[in-house]
Amino acid sequence: MKDIMNAPFVTELVRTVTNMYAHGWDERNGGNVSVLIDEAQLVDYLDVNSVIRTIPTGFAAPELDGKYFLVTGTGKYFKNVQYDPANNLGIVRLTDNGTQAQLLWGFADGGRFTSEFPAHMMSHVARLKVDPNNRVVMHCHPANLLAMTFVHDLDEIAFTRTLWQMCTECIVVFPDGVNVLPWMLCGTNEIGEATAEKMKTARLVIWSQHGIYGAGKDLDETFGLIETAEKAAEIYMKIAHLPILNTISDEAMHQLEDHFGVKAREGYLS
Ligand SMILES: [Zn+2]
Repeated sequence: MKDIMNAPFVTELVRTVTNMYAHGWDERNGGNVSVLIDEAQLVDYLDVNSVIRTIPTGFAAPELDGKYFLVTGTGKYFKNVQYDPANNLGIVRLTDNGTQAQLLWGFADGGRFTSEFPAHMMSHVARLKVDPNNRVVMHCHPANLLAMTFVHDLDEIAFTRTLWQMCTECIVVFPDGVNVLPWMLCGTNEIGEATAEKMKTARLVIWSQHGIYGAGKDLDETFGLIETAEKAAEIYMKIAHLPILNTISDEAMHQLEDHFGVKAREGYLS
């Protein structure tokens, strides 16, 4: 067996959560990430028949039966992951219609996956139906996006249009826009189901007064989605209280669509 600490999926996740912490998106134990991994990627590093322990998930997700996820641990600090991946991360296989998670590696101190596991797994189900190549769900607390949910209309079209107008390339990076949930209690199946419902039509879902969820085909794409939306929110928070003299018009947005070969979400541009 090869050393799992050198497995690309482990090193990439360690680098990504370290970078998320460096961006200030993941104070204390804030944030969580899950990555869908193919069995073929794992077999060089793990005996997939050797189950350390089984953890009930508290929900059903029959679509994910037999699937493997690398996921961050509950109560763990992203700033510490790079120093001790085996305590802070875990690899689980979902069984029994997704009601059980078999731990195959990690959570070495007896820990378990993030308390937002329902939102992650339900979001994977939703995104895989839209895009079979989706592999990553990422949650964090970027300050400007969070701040925006206190002062901006939470209407999804209005919120998306404001973000698109803040940087030229936003509409190219997330033409599907951002969906928005009102404040809800986190760590529950209810917010998981609501997030997954929103994930059917966009890869970014804002949790008002809390943070954001992103989904994508790999860690770079998903990080980049959140990074781009957060940059736009930062600009909004810098200018929202000032007289606005110029903006990016819908006509300019249509030029961007044509030039970059993207299509803005239906009905979001005039
Ligand atoms: Zn959170």
